[in-house]
Amino acid sequence: MSLPNKLNGAILAHNRPGIRGMSTRKMEPVMTVKLYAFTCGTVTGEFAHLMEGGEGDITVPIPVFLIEHGKGRALFDTGLHPDCQHDPAGRVGPRITGVFTFNYRPGEEVSARLQAIGRDPAKIDVIVNSHFHFDHVGGNALIPNATMVVQKREWEAGMDPDTAARRGFNRRDFDLGHKVIQVDGEHDLFGDGAVVCLPTHGHTPGHQSLKVRLASGDVVLAADSCYFCRTLRERRLPQNVYDRTAMLASLDKLASLEKGGARIFFGHDGEFWKSVPQAPAEIV
Ligand SMILES: [Zn+2]
Repeated sequence: MSLPNKLNGAILAHNRPGIRGMSTRKMEPVMTVKLYAFTCGTVTGEFAHLMEGGEGDITVPIPVFLIEHGKGRALFDTGLHPDCQHDPAGRVGPRITGVFTFNYRPGEEVSARLQAIGRDPAKIDVIVNSHFHFDHVGGNALIPNATMVVQKREWEAGMDPDTAARRGFNRRDFDLGHKVIQVDGEHDLFGDGAVVCLPTHGHTPGHQSLKVRLASGDVVLAADSCYFCRTLRERRLPQNVYDRTAMLASLDKLASLEKGGARIFFGHDGEFWKSVPQAPAEIV
């Protein structure tokens, strides 16, 4: 009997390169995860603001991801609030619009992006917010029935008026009556290791990234723990960081995940973003 078992394991490992080591573990059914990317507008600002040593202006994408798992449908971040399409200063305040120009049109908000590929925004089960900055939680308002999954320390920072003001958080973006699950550290979203929240603090008090296991291997949606490929390669941090030491440790963690075979999806890297298929195309 040992031969067919070994053979079976070998075939499984061969067909599913993303689950290396499976043949040595207990065999369990593996859920298929589908991952889709949307661009919900762009913003333009000084490159030096976003990366030490950057020159001139840079236009960066505002990414949102849809993850479809057998047990539920999740978004990773929700982009900008729709008011930013006509009155960004009124929505995010003059300090932010003094730094960024918004390029964001009707139809680019997360709900419209979902509807364009036949998904109902009311049927999104989970929003994983990387953190509480305006370009990551602004669309929560358009996703009415989801449970938010955030790091406990981000939630606490958001609920503390002084900290929230210092970090540029707008409570109107995330305190909207959604059910909230506060997690502390790693969190396996569906209980099978397919979609896992990874703490990558530093950019904000409780920033998190999301690891998604595709058939081709692991993808890590870094969000603002790593704006650009160069942030990771050259350790060039943005101008405003909550905790530099923590952010550098998070970059080390991303580097080690990459070394282990994961593909890192950088948070606001326009060059990288050109290589990411946009929905309805699936990321494979
Ligand atoms: Zn951002």
